[in-house]
Amino acid sequence: MGVIVQKYGGSSVSTAAKMRAVAEMITQVRSRDQHVVVVVSAMGDSTDNLLELARQVGPALSPRELDRLLSTGETVSAALLSLAIQSLGVDAVSLSASQCGIITNDVYSNARILEVRPDRIKKELARGAVVVVPGFQGVTKHQETTTLGRGGSDTSAVAIAAALGAESCEIYTDVNGVYSADPRVVSEAIALSDLGATEMEELAWHGAQVVKAEAVEFARTNGVAVLVRSAFAQGQGTFIPPESSQSVYRPHRPEVAAVTGRKDLVRIRLHRPTLTSPQMDEIFASLSKYDLIFGGLNGADETSELFISNLEIPDPDAFAAELAPRFNGAVKLTGDLGAVSLVGFGLGSRPAALLEALRVLEEENVPLIKSFTGRESLTFVIPRPLVDASVKRLHRVFVENHEPALQLNSLPLMWKTRGLNIVDTFELLESEVRVYCRDFPTVFTKGIGCRLFDERGQEFLDFFSGAGTLNYGHNNPRMKRRLIEYLENDSITHSLDMATTVKREFLERFNSVILAPRKLEYKIQFCGPTGTNAVEAALKLARKATGRQTVVFFMNAYHGLSLGSLAVTGNASKRAGAGVTLHYAMPMPYDGDLGPNVNTLDYFEAFLENSGSGMELPAAVIVETIQAEGGVKVASYEWLRRLEDLARRHGIVFIIDDIQVGCGRTGSFFSFEDAGLRPDMVCLSKAISGFGLPMALLLIRPELDVWEPGEHTGTFRGNNLAFVTASEALAYWEDEAFADLILKKSELLTRLMKEIVERHPEARGWVRGRGLIQGLGFDVEGLAQEVARAAFERGLIIETSGAQSQVVKLLPPLTIDEEDLRDGIDRLIDSLTIALGRTAMTRVAVSGEEMRA
Ligand code: PMP
Repeated sequence: MGVIVQKYGGSSVSTAAKMRAVAEMITQVRSRDQHVVVVVSAMGDSTDNLLELARQVGPALSPRELDRLLSTGETVSAALLSLAIQSLGVDAVSLSASQCGIITNDVYSNARILEVRPDRIKKELARGAVVVVPGFQGVTKHQETTTLGRGGSDTSAVAIAAALGAESCEIYTDVNGVYSADPRVVSEAIALSDLGATEMEELAWHGAQVVKAEAVEFARTNGVAVLVRSAFAQGQGTFIPPESSQSVYRPHRPEVAAVTGRKDLVRIRLHRPTLTSPQMDEIFASLSKYDLIFGGLNGADETSELFISNLEIPDPDAFAAELAPRFNGAVKLTGDLGAVSLVGFGLGSRPAALLEALRVLEEENVPLIKSFTGRESLTFVIPRPLVDASVKRLHRVFVENHEPALQLNSLPLMWKTRGLNIVDTFELLESEVRVYCRDFPTVFTKGIGCRLFDERGQEFLDFFSGAGTLNYGHNNPRMKRRLIEYLENDSITHSLDMATTVKREFLERFNSVILAPRKLEYKIQFCGPTGTNAVEAALKLARKATGRQTVVFFMNAYHGLSLGSLAVTGNASKRAGAGVTLHYAMPMPYDGDLGPNVNTLDYFEAFLENSGSGMELPAAVIVETIQAEGGVKVASYEWLRRLEDLARRHGIVFIIDDIQVGCGRTGSFFSFEDAGLRPDMVCLSKAISGFGLPMALLLIRPELDVWEPGEHTGTFRGNNLAFVTASEALAYWEDEAFADLILKKSELLTRLMKEIVERHPEARGWVRGRGLIQGLGFDVEGLAQEVARAAFERGLIIETSGAQSQVVKLLPPLTIDEEDLRDGIDRLIDSLTIALGRTAMTRVAVSGEEMRA
């Protein structure tokens, strides 16, 4: 028998008659052989009445006593509802929060549920009773009564539904579901039949009062389906599916689902240089009991701005009067603020909507105080008196007059009105497949060394380097000069695989500078221009040379997205993009994948050596010495050597994909040379041209070079411009000091990153990597992505990697100087501080194993 959790708000049980009607509805559900748990709020205005009584008794509003007092409202309604149900001949029992096992933290008046231990509820359900739970209240580990803040009964209901694994959680209110705007403000508002969990969470967070934001967050993170509807009016209400079942593509849904406003904001401005650390601690301690609505740090004037809700401050004026003089004017409070928000699927990454909203507000002469972008929302902080009018206007433009897509011919107008040319062209004309422009939403126009500049002239430190392509920085002057000279001489730019002067120069120089000193003997195949082309060539050649089919690869590997490379790539969503079954590849656990005490090669070896294993002898094994995309996972030299030995003993072609971590990234030209490996084939791309020009190579042990002429070709195997810069890049490797310098910088980088981890124990961070590829991971869900986002705002380009994007990956150019390296790390530290603030409300610690995997 399934369990349904129903929650009734105060207005649904405000009189004895309504209470009886609700009891009637509950018994109907129960009669369908459903287990029912009912969460109920205090009747009508009884909470406000209790508060008023408390004020009349005296001025000492102790939070503990207030919570004891306010919780009685729900206790009363739970007992009454239970009596009403019993009167209809159905077994019912009301319980206290403590009996229901609703354990909270010890923040009075705004507690958060930490855990629900529903043993007693289960026992009562098992004997057939309807269980009535008082909403809004909880109990601390020390048996103190707490309350959950406004709308807390919603959270109680969802938390109980999650703990019981309920089929659904139905929230009954006095309106028929969620509307596209507050119908009291916008008479044209429409009821929404369904809404994504993240949209609902952002809508609630930004002021829609229909369901508490924290409850939706709980539902989303615990996979609880929620239905919001009216207890008495007709109508289907709004269905909020668990996040996992949301379809991504909803063409019927307008871009903006709803517009909401709030009128309760207080801005707290902290001038950081004037404040001492203990003062900052004191301020944050006094603010910690309030929900931070938004927060941010302005780089230029080192000012932090925090926005909190004045609803949670019993007396905002007294609060302001107390804070301001205590900190010598370094803390300033501004009240009388509000915000309007647009909420819609993917809205945060749609700059066209941002631009349009700014235009609408400007037309209405609404002064903009601050704007914030969420994943599915755009929020504008504005003066409180203008909130309702702005909600109406934005609703008219975005919901009532909505057209399915922004028209192309509206583009010049938007540019003209704002004088800005941001990423609209890309939004309108470029495929949805684009990705990095979503993470770094600006238009870049210039690159010099480790710096990028956008069209507005903003400078960024580039610690991403084109995913390890620009190892020698943007527009490296030596390479640029040679390239310009080359072009001015009308030299060859394209040649298929014809012989050209610069190709010969590259072959000879690569052999003399890189291969010969390392006593490596390889034939060099020029493949199509990108990394995956080198991987495809390697797999094809290994299969041809051995006459076998299977290729062994490792969990979390990334080798490219063409079908052959994709078959040996681990990422599930990338694999799903293939659209066909990916064949002839077998995954094995990478070094460390089965915990620190298991050598994963025992497993591979057992498969190879047990004739009953069912594994056919593979043609090849392909491995990255560091899984860069896979979360900066580093294989030990010992493990790599054993893998090579295993491959040798079984006649398996040993391929190293050095596309991302080769060309000096780890401190030596090849990432495998310090381990003493001599792979059969090596894939190189990304930084091999040194200048960001497309180029890929396969190095082949001569005996394996069994290609027939023309058996594997491609138009763009002769990028002569890339040969020019690639030859010039080798000049760095003619000087032994270059590798030493990389090593010195990598020691500094690792030390600084370890310091960050030690300084912020709450981030549960860890560092791993080699040379100038370093990963900073966090055992806190979502933190790495938040850090990368904050970093962009601080002018630092970094990306995340790993299956759950749990690792911030740092790839500064190898040529960076110490000052810029330190500057980047300073920006990273600031970004972490901001990200920790942003994720404070939703922070979920996960097991270290899970995040490090
Ligand atoms: N192998 C590795 C190790 C890579 O990091 C990448 C790219 N991130 C590829 C292969 C594929 O290269 P490309 O995207 O140029 O095809």
